[in-house]
Amino acid sequence: MSGERRGLALALLVMLAGAGEPAALSAQDDPALARARRLLAATPLIDGHNDLVWEIRTSPTAPRDVAAYDLRTTTPGQTDLARLRSGQVAAQFWSIYVPGEMRDSGYARIQLEEFDLARRMIARYPDRLALALSADDIEREFKRGRVASLLGMEGGHVLENSLGTLRVYYDLGARYLTLTHNVTLDWADAAADSARHGGLTEFGREVVREMNRLGMLVDLSHVSPGTMSDALDVTEAPVIFSHSSARALTEHVRNVPDSILTRLEKNGGVVMVTFVGAFVSQAVADWEARYNHELALAQAASADTASHMREWEQANPRPRATLAQVADHLDHVREVAGPDHVGIGSDFDGFDHPPVGLEDVSRFPYLFAELIRRGWSDDDLRKLAGRNLLRVLRQAEAIATRLRREREPSTRTIEQLDRP
Ligand SMILES: [Zn+2]
Repeated sequence: MSGERRGLALALLVMLAGAGEPAALSAQDDPALARARRLLAATPLIDGHNDLVWEIRTSPTAPRDVAAYDLRTTTPGQTDLARLRSGQVAAQFWSIYVPGEMRDSGYARIQLEEFDLARRMIARYPDRLALALSADDIEREFKRGRVASLLGMEGGHVLENSLGTLRVYYDLGARYLTLTHNVTLDWADAAADSARHGGLTEFGREVVREMNRLGMLVDLSHVSPGTMSDALDVTEAPVIFSHSSARALTEHVRNVPDSILTRLEKNGGVVMVTFVGAFVSQAVADWEARYNHELALAQAASADTASHMREWEQANPRPRATLAQVADHLDHVREVAGPDHVGIGSDFDGFDHPPVGLEDVSRFPYLFAELIRRGWSDDDLRKLAGRNLLRVLRQAEAIATRLRREREPSTRTIEQLDRP
């Protein structure tokens, strides 16, 4: 979930079908695409972030109904079974997202409903999807031809300041947690909110230590640079960024600064580059800032906001990000963090207006073809596709095995650690 919402994706897809770049080129007449497809047939492609579960939860016609949102048909969104297959997706972290802005509602209840929804969705297609809890599960399912389905939680507010809650989520299958979403917590600063702690509090550090002990990946997408830095100081396992791009190329709070990228070699972690337009294109980021400013003005003036913004958008057409710009971010992360520290985290079904050339989950091979044309070696492409993430997961699993021998589950509380 990028913070943007989708709406007219189907209409956009229809529009784009005629406007495509090498969309008409098949693997037969595009040697780079043919090579990309061969490579992805032999190496698992692991995507770090997809918001299909929230899409089903909020379906306007049949909310939370996994039968009605039939993945065997062409869905109105960016993800379904046929497109996952043509995109050669081997493993998917399905985001089980809970908005942090709903302060009047129980986050844990919504989180449990998200587990339920994701697990019902996976169970509905036993021939195509399989719940995955480990690196071994991913490799086994890749050989069987099913999409290894991992669960990733988005936003530490769902812990409700409890380490017991964290442990139960692990037992239900969660294998990563972004420490925050867009809202700063009692124990961690978010990228899109005010910095109240300068990073993590002592309880926030204890959350990271307990995640290490469990073997749940510490996900630093959505957190502030201070939280990124504090988490890197305290974690014993490699971290991930499940859906973030490079701040040096696009100035956006959700992206990773070079000062953090250069710390990944020592930590061992991976930045899974995301496709969200405003995170990969400065023109889109600037346009969205202007759009939001205009919207705030219109709302303050109590105007007919919808028609005002439609007119504004006609006078100020939205620019589109491109597949080449996503490739630029992959080049940058590979160069600054190193080829062992880059991955892919699309955020499909979490944003509108996908980059031209990366309209849905069927398009991953085209991104690999672009990188082949840019001179990436097969070895670096295999690392990008999934080998880096498999390495991170195995390391986190091994560290958890050791830490579980060395220490008991933490029973520390936020009252003890942050308000003594
Ligand atoms: Zn997100």
